[in-house]
Amino acid sequence: MEKLYLIRYGEIGLKGENRSLFEDKLLSNINKKIKIFDKNLKIYKKPGRIYLITETTKNIVINKLKKTPGIVSFSPVQKVKLDYDLIKKEVLNSAKSFKNKGKINFRISARRSNKKYKYDSMQLQKLLGEYVIDNLTGVDLNVDLYKPDLDINVEIRKDFAYIYTEIIEGLGGLPVGISGTVGLMLSGGIDSPVAGYMSLKRGVKIIPIYFHSFPFTTDRAKEKVIDITKTLSNYQHNIKLHVVDFTKILTEINKNCPDKLLTIIMRRLMIKITEMLISKYDGKAIITGESIGQVASQTLEAIQVTNNISALPILRPLIGLNKVQIVNLAKKIDTYDISIQPYDDCCTVFVPKNPETKPTLEQIIQGEKKLNIDKLIKQAVKSVQILNITDEKLVD
Ligand code: ATP
Ligand code: MG
Repeated sequence: MEKLYLIRYGEIGLKGENRSLFEDKLLSNINKKIKIFDKNLKIYKKPGRIYLITETTKNIVINKLKKTPGIVSFSPVQKVKLDYDLIKKEVLNSAKSFKNKGKINFRISARRSNKKYKYDSMQLQKLLGEYVIDNLTGVDLNVDLYKPDLDINVEIRKDFAYIYTEIIEGLGGLPVGISGTVGLMLSGGIDSPVAGYMSLKRGVKIIPIYFHSFPFTTDRAKEKVIDITKTLSNYQHNIKLHVVDFTKILTEINKNCPDKLLTIIMRRLMIKITEMLISKYDGKAIITGESIGQVASQTLEAIQVTNNISALPILRPLIGLNKVQIVNLAKKIDTYDISIQPYDDCCTVFVPKNPETKPTLEQIIQGEKKLNIDKLIKQAVKSVQILNITDEKLVD
Protein backbone atom coordinates (compact mmCIF):
# COMPACT_ATOMS: atom_id res chain seq x y z
CA MET A 1 0.00 0.00 0.00
CA GLU A 2 1.19 3.49 -0.84
CA LYS A 3 2.20 5.68 2.04
CA LEU A 4 2.67 9.40 2.26
CA TYR A 5 5.55 11.09 4.07
CA LEU A 6 5.79 14.73 5.02
CA ILE A 7 9.41 15.90 4.98
CA ARG A 8 10.56 19.08 6.71
CA TYR A 9 13.77 20.91 6.08
CA GLY A 10 15.22 24.24 6.94
CA GLU A 11 18.41 26.13 7.52
CA ILE A 12 18.63 29.68 8.74
CA GLY A 13 19.34 32.05 5.88
CA LEU A 14 17.75 29.87 3.27
CA LYS A 15 16.02 32.27 0.96
CA GLY A 16 15.38 33.39 -2.60
CA GLU A 17 17.00 31.35 -5.30
CA ASN A 18 19.06 29.42 -2.75
CA ARG A 19 15.91 28.01 -1.31
CA SER A 20 14.72 26.44 -4.51
CA LEU A 21 18.20 25.06 -5.27
CA PHE A 22 18.23 23.51 -1.81
CA GLU A 23 14.77 22.02 -2.27
CA ASP A 24 15.52 20.62 -5.71
CA LYS A 25 18.76 19.04 -4.54
CA LEU A 26 17.11 17.48 -1.50
CA LEU A 27 14.25 16.22 -3.63
CA SER A 28 16.62 14.62 -6.09
CA ASN A 29 18.71 13.04 -3.30
CA ILE A 30 15.63 11.47 -1.70
CA ASN A 31 14.40 10.34 -5.09
CA LYS A 32 17.66 8.50 -5.82
CA LYS A 33 17.59 6.68 -2.49
CA ILE A 34 14.00 5.48 -2.64
CA LYS A 35 13.85 4.82 -6.40
CA ILE A 36 15.89 1.65 -5.89
CA PHE A 37 12.96 0.17 -4.00
CA ASP A 38 10.10 1.77 -5.89
CA LYS A 39 10.40 3.02 -9.45
CA ASN A 40 6.96 4.61 -9.29
CA LEU A 41 7.47 6.77 -6.26
CA LYS A 42 6.10 10.29 -6.37
CA ILE A 43 7.85 13.23 -4.81
CA TYR A 44 6.91 16.89 -4.93
CA LYS A 45 7.41 20.11 -3.06
CA LYS A 46 4.96 22.49 -1.49
CA PRO A 47 5.92 25.69 0.31
CA GLY A 48 8.26 24.76 3.15
CA ARG A 49 7.97 20.99 2.81
CA ILE A 50 8.38 17.98 0.56
CA TYR A 51 5.93 15.12 0.12
CA LEU A 52 6.96 11.60 -0.78
CA ILE A 53 4.50 8.89 -1.83
CA THR A 54 5.85 5.37 -2.07
CA GLU A 55 5.01 1.71 -1.71
CA THR A 56 8.38 0.99 -0.10
CA THR A 57 8.28 -0.71 3.32
CA LYS A 58 7.93 1.91 6.01
CA ASN A 59 11.04 0.86 7.95
CA ILE A 60 13.20 1.21 4.87
CA VAL A 61 11.86 4.66 4.09
CA ILE A 62 12.42 5.76 7.68
CA ASN A 63 15.98 4.49 7.62
CA LYS A 64 16.76 6.20 4.35
CA LEU A 65 15.22 9.54 5.32
CA LYS A 66 16.97 9.49 8.69
CA LYS A 67 20.29 9.38 6.84
CA THR A 68 19.61 12.02 4.23
CA PRO A 69 21.40 15.29 5.04
CA GLY A 70 19.13 18.33 4.73
CA ILE A 71 16.06 16.73 6.34
CA VAL A 72 15.22 18.23 9.72
CA SER A 73 12.34 15.87 10.49
CA PHE A 74 9.67 13.83 8.76
CA SER A 75 6.39 12.07 9.47
CA PRO A 76 4.44 9.24 7.90
CA VAL A 77 1.08 10.96 7.33
CA GLN A 78 -2.51 10.27 6.33
CA LYS A 79 -4.01 12.73 3.89
CA VAL A 80 -7.77 13.23 3.68
CA LYS A 81 -10.07 15.69 1.96
CA LEU A 82 -11.17 18.71 3.98
CA ASP A 83 -14.27 16.99 5.22
CA TYR A 84 -14.73 16.92 8.98
CA ASP A 85 -16.20 13.39 8.98
CA LEU A 86 -13.17 12.04 7.17
CA ILE A 87 -10.82 13.94 9.45
CA LYS A 88 -12.39 12.64 12.66
CA LYS A 89 -12.40 9.07 11.33
CA GLU A 90 -8.73 9.28 10.53
CA VAL A 91 -7.88 10.83 13.90
CA LEU A 92 -9.69 7.96 15.60
CA ASN A 93 -7.76 5.46 13.46
CA SER A 94 -4.46 7.01 14.57
CA ALA A 95 -5.48 6.63 18.19
CA LYS A 96 -6.59 3.03 17.58
CA SER A 97 -3.32 2.02 15.97
CA PHE A 98 -1.25 3.47 18.79
CA LYS A 99 0.64 0.52 20.22
CA ASN A 100 0.67 1.49 23.85
CA LYS A 101 -2.69 -0.07 24.72
CA GLY A 102 -4.15 0.10 28.21
CA LYS A 103 -3.58 3.64 29.38
CA ILE A 104 -2.94 6.50 26.98
CA ASN A 105 -2.20 10.14 27.71
CA PHE A 106 -2.99 11.97 24.53
CA ARG A 107 -3.42 15.33 22.94
CA ILE A 108 -4.64 16.70 19.64
CA SER A 109 -2.39 19.37 18.11
CA ALA A 110 -4.25 21.19 15.38
CA ARG A 111 -2.81 23.80 13.01
CA ARG A 112 -4.71 25.65 10.37
CA SER A 113 -2.92 27.41 7.53
CA ASN A 114 -6.22 27.52 5.64
CA LYS A 115 -8.02 30.19 7.61
CA LYS A 116 -11.21 29.61 5.64
CA TYR A 117 -11.80 26.23 7.19
CA LYS A 118 -14.94 26.16 9.32
CA TYR A 119 -13.22 25.32 12.62
CA ASP A 120 -10.19 27.06 14.06
CA SER A 121 -7.37 25.15 15.77
CA MET A 122 -8.80 25.41 19.28
CA GLN A 123 -12.22 24.20 18.16
CA LEU A 124 -10.69 21.31 16.25
CA GLN A 125 -8.64 20.21 19.24
CA LYS A 126 -11.66 20.21 21.48
CA LEU A 127 -14.02 18.50 19.01
CA LEU A 128 -11.55 15.84 17.92
CA GLY A 129 -10.39 15.18 21.49
CA GLU A 130 -13.95 14.58 22.60
CA TYR A 131 -14.64 12.41 19.58
CA VAL A 132 -11.67 10.14 20.38
CA ILE A 133 -12.68 9.85 24.04
CA ASP A 134 -16.28 8.99 23.08
CA ASN A 135 -15.36 6.43 20.46
CA LEU A 136 -12.27 4.61 21.62
CA THR A 137 -13.31 1.84 23.95
CA GLY A 138 -11.29 -0.52 26.10
CA VAL A 139 -8.54 2.03 26.72
CA ASP A 140 -8.00 4.33 29.67
CA LEU A 141 -7.71 7.69 27.88
CA ASN A 142 -6.56 10.91 29.45
CA VAL A 143 -5.88 14.26 27.89
CA ASP A 144 -2.37 15.48 28.64
CA LEU A 145 -1.42 18.73 26.97
CA TYR A 146 2.16 18.82 28.23
CA LYS A 147 3.71 15.36 28.01
CA PRO A 148 1.40 13.15 25.98
CA ASP A 149 2.37 9.60 24.96
CA LEU A 150 0.34 10.12 21.86
CA ASP A 151 0.25 13.46 20.06
CA ILE A 152 -2.17 13.45 17.14
CA ASN A 153 -1.25 16.26 14.77
CA VAL A 154 -3.88 17.62 12.44
CA GLU A 155 -2.84 20.16 9.84
CA ILE A 156 -5.54 21.88 7.88
CA ARG A 157 -4.14 23.13 4.57
CA LYS A 158 -5.70 24.43 1.36
CA ASP A 159 -7.40 21.31 0.01
CA PHE A 160 -6.46 18.55 2.41
CA ALA A 161 -5.94 17.71 6.05
CA TYR A 162 -2.77 15.90 7.11
CA ILE A 163 -2.84 13.69 10.16
CA TYR A 164 0.21 12.19 11.84
CA THR A 165 1.46 11.00 15.19
CA GLU A 166 5.18 10.45 14.63
CA ILE A 167 7.78 13.15 14.12
CA ILE A 168 11.08 11.49 13.33
CA GLU A 169 14.24 13.51 13.66
CA GLY A 170 16.54 13.83 10.65
CA LEU A 171 20.20 14.82 10.38
CA GLY A 172 19.59 18.46 9.47
CA GLY A 173 22.38 20.18 7.58
CA LEU A 174 22.46 20.70 3.82
CA PRO A 175 21.65 18.32 0.96
CA VAL A 176 24.70 16.54 -0.45
CA GLY A 177 26.01 18.22 -3.58
CA ILE A 178 24.70 21.71 -2.93
CA SER A 179 28.07 23.02 -1.73
CA GLY A 180 30.27 21.49 -4.43
CA THR A 181 32.74 18.61 -4.54
CA VAL A 182 35.69 17.81 -2.27
CA GLY A 183 38.35 15.12 -2.05
CA LEU A 184 38.25 13.14 1.20
CA MET A 185 41.53 11.49 2.20
CA LEU A 186 40.06 8.29 3.56
CA SER A 187 42.18 5.84 5.52
CA GLY A 188 40.77 2.82 7.31
CA GLY A 189 41.10 4.65 10.65
CA ILE A 190 38.45 6.05 12.94
CA ASP A 191 38.87 9.72 12.10
CA SER A 192 38.63 10.25 8.36
CA PRO A 193 35.21 8.56 7.90
CA VAL A 194 33.86 10.91 10.58
CA ALA A 195 35.47 13.88 8.81
CA GLY A 196 33.73 12.71 5.64
CA TYR A 197 30.38 12.50 7.40
CA MET A 198 30.75 15.98 8.88
CA SER A 199 31.49 17.38 5.42
CA LEU A 200 28.57 15.55 3.83
CA LYS A 201 26.26 17.19 6.31
CA ARG A 202 27.46 20.58 5.11
CA GLY A 203 26.30 19.73 1.61
CA VAL A 204 29.52 18.70 -0.09
CA LYS A 205 29.82 15.70 -2.32
CA ILE A 206 32.81 13.63 -1.28
CA ILE A 207 35.26 11.84 -3.54
CA PRO A 208 37.23 9.56 -1.19
CA ILE A 209 40.85 8.81 -2.05
CA TYR A 210 42.53 5.86 -0.37
CA PHE A 211 46.28 5.25 -0.66
CA HIS A 212 46.93 1.54 -0.70
CA SER A 213 50.39 0.08 -0.13
CA PHE A 214 50.28 -3.61 -0.89
CA PRO A 215 52.09 -5.71 0.37
CA PHE A 216 53.01 -3.40 3.28
CA THR A 217 49.33 -3.39 3.97
CA THR A 218 47.12 -6.32 3.09
CA ASP A 219 44.13 -6.27 0.77
CA ARG A 220 42.02 -6.62 3.88
CA ALA A 221 42.94 -2.99 4.64
CA LYS A 222 41.51 -2.04 1.26
CA GLU A 223 38.35 -4.09 1.92
CA LYS A 224 37.97 -2.18 5.14
CA VAL A 225 38.02 1.13 3.29
CA ILE A 226 35.49 -0.21 0.80
CA ASP A 227 33.22 -1.21 3.69
CA ILE A 228 33.58 2.21 5.26
CA THR A 229 32.68 3.82 1.93
CA LYS A 230 29.61 1.58 1.70
CA THR A 231 28.55 2.82 5.10
CA LEU A 232 29.12 6.43 4.05
CA SER A 233 26.97 5.77 0.99
CA ASN A 234 24.02 5.68 3.37
CA TYR A 235 24.46 9.44 3.49
CA GLN A 236 25.68 10.14 -0.05
CA HIS A 237 23.89 7.80 -2.38
CA ASN A 238 26.68 7.28 -4.87
CA ILE A 239 30.36 7.49 -4.02
CA LYS A 240 33.33 7.13 -6.34
CA LEU A 241 36.05 5.61 -4.20
CA HIS A 242 39.52 6.20 -5.68
CA VAL A 243 42.17 3.67 -4.73
CA VAL A 244 45.74 4.80 -5.46
CA ASP A 245 48.70 2.42 -5.57
CA PHE A 246 51.06 4.05 -3.07
CA THR A 247 53.64 1.28 -2.70
CA LYS A 248 56.28 2.73 -4.96
CA ILE A 249 56.11 6.14 -3.31
CA LEU A 250 56.27 4.66 0.14
CA THR A 251 59.32 2.58 -0.78
CA GLU A 252 61.08 5.57 -2.32
CA ILE A 253 60.36 7.83 0.63
CA ASN A 254 61.56 5.19 3.03
CA LYS A 255 64.77 4.75 1.05
CA ASN A 256 65.58 8.38 0.28
CA CYS A 257 64.19 10.65 2.97
CA PRO A 258 65.21 11.32 6.58
CA ASP A 259 63.40 8.99 8.91
CA LYS A 260 61.98 11.74 11.10
CA LEU A 261 60.24 13.37 8.10
CA LEU A 262 58.66 10.21 6.66
CA THR A 263 55.10 10.86 7.77
CA ILE A 264 55.03 14.49 6.70
CA ILE A 265 56.54 13.85 3.27
CA MET A 266 54.17 10.94 2.77
CA ARG A 267 51.21 13.13 3.69
CA ARG A 268 52.38 15.91 1.36
CA LEU A 269 52.48 13.54 -1.58
CA MET A 270 49.06 12.15 -0.70
CA ILE A 271 47.70 15.68 -0.74
CA LYS A 272 49.27 16.52 -4.07
CA ILE A 273 47.87 13.35 -5.66
CA THR A 274 44.44 14.04 -4.17
CA GLU A 275 44.54 17.54 -5.62
CA MET A 276 45.31 16.17 -9.08
CA LEU A 277 42.67 13.46 -8.90
CA ILE A 278 39.83 15.74 -7.85
CA SER A 279 40.63 18.44 -10.41
CA LYS A 280 38.62 16.53 -13.01
CA TYR A 281 35.54 16.74 -10.77
CA ASP A 282 36.13 20.43 -10.16
CA GLY A 283 36.96 19.56 -6.53
CA LYS A 284 37.43 22.69 -4.50
CA ALA A 285 38.96 21.48 -1.23
CA ILE A 286 40.58 18.51 0.47
CA ILE A 287 39.22 17.01 3.70
CA THR A 288 41.33 15.05 6.16
CA GLY A 289 40.61 13.42 9.52
CA GLU A 290 43.43 15.25 11.26
CA SER A 291 43.02 17.21 14.41
CA ILE A 292 45.55 19.28 16.37
CA GLY A 293 48.00 17.65 18.72
CA GLN A 294 46.82 14.03 18.38
CA VAL A 295 50.08 12.76 16.90
CA ALA A 296 53.42 14.21 15.79
CA SER A 297 52.23 14.94 12.25
CA GLN A 298 49.41 17.06 13.61
CA THR A 299 51.29 20.00 15.12
CA LEU A 300 50.65 23.43 13.64
CA GLU A 301 54.15 23.42 12.14
CA ALA A 302 53.51 20.04 10.49
CA ILE A 303 50.14 21.18 9.22
CA GLN A 304 51.70 24.29 7.74
CA VAL A 305 54.35 22.45 5.72
CA THR A 306 51.81 19.82 4.70
CA ASN A 307 49.40 22.44 3.37
CA ASN A 308 52.12 24.12 1.45
CA ILE A 309 52.21 21.50 -1.31
CA SER A 310 48.69 22.28 -2.54
CA ALA A 311 46.89 25.44 -3.55
CA LEU A 312 43.54 23.98 -2.48
CA PRO A 313 42.14 24.66 0.98
CA ILE A 314 42.68 21.66 3.26
CA LEU A 315 39.79 21.36 5.66
CA ARG A 316 39.92 19.44 8.90
CA PRO A 317 36.39 19.15 10.25
CA LEU A 318 37.54 17.30 13.40
CA ILE A 319 39.80 20.10 14.55
CA GLY A 320 37.62 21.01 17.52
CA LEU A 321 36.77 17.50 18.67
CA ASN A 322 38.54 15.24 21.13
CA LYS A 323 38.99 11.51 20.58
CA VAL A 324 35.98 10.52 22.68
CA GLN A 325 33.71 12.79 20.65
CA ILE A 326 35.13 11.42 17.39
CA VAL A 327 34.65 7.83 18.58
CA ASN A 328 31.06 8.58 19.57
CA LEU A 329 30.35 10.00 16.13
CA ALA A 330 32.01 7.00 14.46
CA LYS A 331 29.70 4.73 16.47
CA LYS A 332 26.69 6.81 15.55
CA ILE A 333 27.40 6.55 11.82
CA ASP A 334 28.31 2.84 12.06
CA THR A 335 31.90 3.13 10.86
CA TYR A 336 33.53 2.48 14.24
CA ASP A 337 33.30 -1.32 14.21
CA ILE A 338 34.82 -1.43 10.74
CA SER A 339 37.59 1.03 11.61
CA ILE A 340 38.79 -0.89 14.64
CA GLN A 341 39.42 -4.06 12.66
CA PRO A 342 43.13 -4.70 12.98
CA TYR A 343 44.33 -4.21 9.39
CA ASP A 344 46.98 -1.54 9.44
CA ASP A 345 47.29 1.19 6.91
CA CYS A 346 50.59 2.47 5.64
CA CYS A 347 50.84 5.25 8.19
CA THR A 348 51.02 2.75 10.99
CA VAL A 349 53.50 0.52 9.14
CA PHE A 350 56.07 3.27 8.58
CA VAL A 351 56.18 5.32 11.72
CA PRO A 352 59.39 7.27 12.38
CA LYS A 353 61.01 6.57 15.74
CA ASN A 354 61.55 10.26 16.47
CA PRO A 355 59.24 12.24 14.22
CA GLU A 356 59.96 15.91 13.68
CA THR A 357 57.28 17.88 15.45
CA LYS A 358 58.42 21.33 14.31
CA PRO A 359 59.43 20.87 10.70
CA THR A 360 60.33 23.86 8.54
CA LEU A 361 59.58 24.08 4.84
CA GLU A 362 63.28 24.31 4.08
CA GLN A 363 63.91 21.08 5.98
CA ILE A 364 61.16 19.35 4.02
CA ILE A 365 62.35 20.58 0.62
CA GLN A 366 65.84 19.39 1.52
CA GLY A 367 64.39 16.08 2.70
CA GLU A 368 62.50 15.53 -0.55
CA LYS A 369 65.49 16.33 -2.76
CA LYS A 370 66.34 12.76 -3.69
CA LEU A 371 62.78 11.96 -4.75
CA ASN A 372 61.62 12.34 -8.33
CA ILE A 373 58.35 13.76 -7.09
CA ASP A 374 56.81 14.65 -10.46
CA LYS A 375 57.36 11.20 -11.87
CA LEU A 376 56.17 9.42 -8.72
CA ILE A 377 53.02 11.48 -8.57
CA LYS A 378 52.22 10.94 -12.24
CA GLN A 379 52.61 7.19 -11.83
CA ALA A 380 50.41 7.16 -8.77
CA VAL A 381 47.69 9.20 -10.48
CA LYS A 382 47.78 6.78 -13.40
CA SER A 383 47.43 3.79 -11.09
CA VAL A 384 44.08 4.91 -9.72
CA GLN A 385 41.25 2.41 -9.57
CA ILE A 386 37.76 3.89 -9.31
CA LEU A 387 35.05 1.92 -7.50
CA ASN A 388 31.47 3.07 -7.83
CA ILE A 389 29.78 2.43 -4.52
CA THR A 390 26.03 2.85 -4.30
CA ASP A 391 23.80 2.39 -1.32
CA GLU A 392 21.55 -0.46 -2.33
CA LYS A 393 21.72 -2.35 0.89
CA LEU A 394 18.39 -3.27 2.40
CA VAL A 395 17.98 -1.97 5.90
CA ASP A 396 15.57 -3.29 8.45
P1 ATP B 1 42.49 8.21 10.66
O1 ATP B 1 41.83 7.63 11.84
O2 ATP B 1 41.57 8.88 9.71
O3 ATP B 1 43.45 7.26 9.98
P2 ATP B 1 44.57 9.28 12.29
O4 ATP B 1 44.24 10.10 13.48
O5 ATP B 1 44.95 7.84 12.46
O6 ATP B 1 43.39 9.41 11.22
P3 ATP B 1 46.80 9.60 10.54
O7 ATP B 1 46.79 8.14 10.32
O8 ATP B 1 48.05 10.29 10.92
O9 ATP B 1 45.75 10.08 11.61
O10 ATP B 1 46.25 10.28 9.23
C1 ATP B 1 45.83 11.63 9.19
C2 ATP B 1 44.90 11.80 8.01
O11 ATP B 1 45.59 11.54 6.77
C3 ATP B 1 43.76 10.81 8.00
O12 ATP B 1 42.69 11.26 8.81
C4 ATP B 1 43.39 10.76 6.55
O13 ATP B 1 42.61 11.88 6.19
C5 ATP B 1 44.75 10.86 5.88
N1 ATP B 1 45.30 9.52 5.59
C6 ATP B 1 46.16 8.80 6.32
N2 ATP B 1 46.45 7.62 5.74
C7 ATP B 1 45.74 7.58 4.59
C8 ATP B 1 45.59 6.62 3.52
N3 ATP B 1 46.23 5.45 3.53
N4 ATP B 1 44.78 6.96 2.51
C9 ATP B 1 44.10 8.12 2.50
N5 ATP B 1 44.21 9.05 3.47
C10 ATP B 1 45.01 8.80 4.50
MG1 MG C 1 45.32 6.50 10.66
